[in-house]
Amino acid sequence: MAKVSINIATGSIQKEDIIVGIDLGTTNSLVAFINPEGKPQVINDTGKGVLVPSIVHFHPDGSVVVGNEAKPYLVSDPSNTIFSVKRLLGRSYHDIENYKDFFSYKVIDDNTESLVKIKVGERFFTPIELSSLILKELKERAEHALKTPVNRAVITVPAYFNDSQRQATRDAGKLAGLDVLRIVNEPTAASLAYGIGLNPEEEKTIAVYDLGGGTFDVSIMRIQNGIFEVLATNGNTFLGGDDFDRAIIDHWIEQNQLNREEVSANKELAQALRLKAEEAKKALSSQNIYNEKVGDIPCALTRSTFDSLILPKVEETIVACQNALKDAGLSAADIQEVVMVGGSTRTPLVKQKVAEFFGKEVHDQINPDEVVALGAGIQADILAGNRKDILLLDVTPLSLGIETMGGLMDVIIPRNSKVPTKAGRQYTTSVDGQVNMKISIYQGERDLVKENRKLAEFDLKGIPAMPAGLPKVNINFLLNADGILTVQALELRSGVKQEVEVKPAYGLTDQEVEQMLFDSITHAKDDVAQRMIIEARTEGEQMVYTAERFLEKNKEYVSTQEISDTIKHIESLKEVLNSGDKDLIHKKIDELNEFTRPFAERLMDQAISQAMKGKAI
Ligand code: ADP
Ligand code: MG
Repeated sequence: MAKVSINIATGSIQKEDIIVGIDLGTTNSLVAFINPEGKPQVINDTGKGVLVPSIVHFHPDGSVVVGNEAKPYLVSDPSNTIFSVKRLLGRSYHDIENYKDFFSYKVIDDNTESLVKIKVGERFFTPIELSSLILKELKERAEHALKTPVNRAVITVPAYFNDSQRQATRDAGKLAGLDVLRIVNEPTAASLAYGIGLNPEEEKTIAVYDLGGGTFDVSIMRIQNGIFEVLATNGNTFLGGDDFDRAIIDHWIEQNQLNREEVSANKELAQALRLKAEEAKKALSSQNIYNEKVGDIPCALTRSTFDSLILPKVEETIVACQNALKDAGLSAADIQEVVMVGGSTRTPLVKQKVAEFFGKEVHDQINPDEVVALGAGIQADILAGNRKDILLLDVTPLSLGIETMGGLMDVIIPRNSKVPTKAGRQYTTSVDGQVNMKISIYQGERDLVKENRKLAEFDLKGIPAMPAGLPKVNINFLLNADGILTVQALELRSGVKQEVEVKPAYGLTDQEVEQMLFDSITHAKDDVAQRMIIEARTEGEQMVYTAERFLEKNKEYVSTQEISDTIKHIESLKEVLNSGDKDLIHKKIDELNEFTRPFAERLMDQAISQAMKGKAI
C-alpha cells in the first residue's frame, strides 16, 4: 500500500495516455473524457451521436454490430439481437428465473447457481463477453474521436450492484482491452458531475433519482471527507421510459379503436408505433402538443393527457423514494441536494413530482443521460492524479483474492480500493464429504494465480461432511489502515473458523507493482480467454460429477434407457473437457442439461438442487 502517486494507482506505463469514464447502461452507453480545458466532455464520434444503444446484433456470418446499427434487428431478428445485457451481468440462473420471458433471445437456464449464458446460433456467450462488445465499441469511438489509443477507464454501475455484478463489469472491461481503474457507483458519478462531493470539507446528505429506459433506482447518499456512503437504495428494475412508451401506444390503440392482437401480430406496425410513441414522449418534454401519423393512423397526444397516462408510474417512483428515506432513517427535509439522472427525468411531470416530494429544486442542468459518464470522467481524472486540489486517499495498489477451482484468481478486494476496506464472498466445496478446504491468498491482476504473488495459505479444517455444494464458507478480507490484511474463513453451518494475517505490501517495490500492472495489461486478453476456458471446463467437470452422482443415487428411479443415454451424454461432455474450446464445452453441458432436465425435475434430488450454490474452491 502506498500514498497514491500516478505511478502506482494507475500504472505509469503510459502517463500521457487518456483515461475515459464509461456509463455502461441498460438502454444506452456512452463515454466521456476530460478535455484539454479540464472540463468533462462526452464523446460524439463523427456525428454518430453520443448515446450508443446497448444492443448487439450477430449477423448469420458471425459478424457483429453494436448500437444504432443493431437496433432495427430487435424486430427483424430478435433471437440474434441482444438488448439489456446489463440485467444479466454477474447473475446466476436462479437470479433471473422470474423474468426469463423478458428476453427475446435464448438465455440458457440450467437451474443452478452458475452464471447465465446466452446462446446465439451455435455459440455461447457470457454477459461479460456481450458487454465487452459494447465497451469495445465505446473504446473504438473514443479512439477515433480523440485520435489516440484509449486503454484505461473508469466504469460505472448501479449502487445496488453486488460484488459479482461489479466483478463481471470489471472483467467485461478487461476483455474489451481496458484497464479498469475503478468501478464507481452511478449516483456517485452523477453527484461528482454536479461538483457535489469534490470538496473534502463538505458534509452532505443527498438523493440521486435515476429513471432510465427500463430501470428505476433512487439512492440516498452521505458524503463526508470526500467519501460517498450509500445509506439506502430503492427502486424497480422493471420501470422506466419504456413503460411511458407503452402507455402511449395503448392510448393510441384505444383512441383509434385498433385491434390490439392485429397490431402486435403486425411487427412492422408495432415497431413503427413504438418509435412514434418514443418520439411523442420526447417531444412532449419540451412542447405541449404532438400530432403525427403512422400510415393513416393519427397519433396525437397532449402533454396533459400524457401526464395522466404516466402518473401511476411516476407515483410508484415517489413511493420508492419514500421507502429509501425510511430505510436510511431520514425524512425528505434531511436531503440537501437532489440529482436527476436518466433520460426519462427529462419528462416534466417526473421533475415536478420529485421536486414536490423533496420540497426543493432538483439538479437538472446537465443532460441527464450524460451526467453519469461525465462524472465517471471526473473520477478518472482524480485517479490520474490530475486534480491537485483533491487529496487522494490510501489505496491498495494490487488486487487481493484467493485461488478457486482450476487455479483461477478470485479477486476479493480490487486494486485501487480505498483503505481501510473489507469485503467477503461465499464459497462451497466441490466434492461430497469434503472436510478440509485449502485457502490460498494471492495478490495481483492476472487471471491465473500462478502468475500472481502468493501471500499466505491455510487449511480450514473440520468442515462437517456434507454433499458437495452444501457447506457455506464465508471468506472475509479486512485490510486495515496500516496495510495489514486479515483473512478469515468461516463455515456457517458448523461455525468452524480459521484466520490469518499478512502484510501484502511487505517486500514489494514500486517497480514490481508497476511490472505486475504492466504484465496484466499486456496479457489481459489471453488471460480472460484462458479464464473462460477454465471456467467452462470446471463447470463441465462439476456437471459430470453431479450427473454421475445423480445416476448412482437414483438408479432405481431411472429407466435403463435413460441411464445409458445419460452416460452417453456424460461421456461426450468428458471428451471435450480438455479441448480448450469453450463453446464446444458449453454446447455439451447444455445438451446434457436438456437431456436430464425432465427426469431430474421428476426426481428433484436435494443434492442436485443444492449443488453449486456459490463457487467451489
Ligand atoms: P439507461 O440508463 O437505462 O441506459 P437512459 O438514461 O439513456 O437509459 O434513458 C433512456 C430513456 O430515456 C429512454 O426510455 C428514452 O426514451 C428516454 N428519453 C430520452 N430523451 C427523453 C426526453 N427528451 N424526454 C423523455 N424521455 C426521454
Ligand atoms: Mg443509466
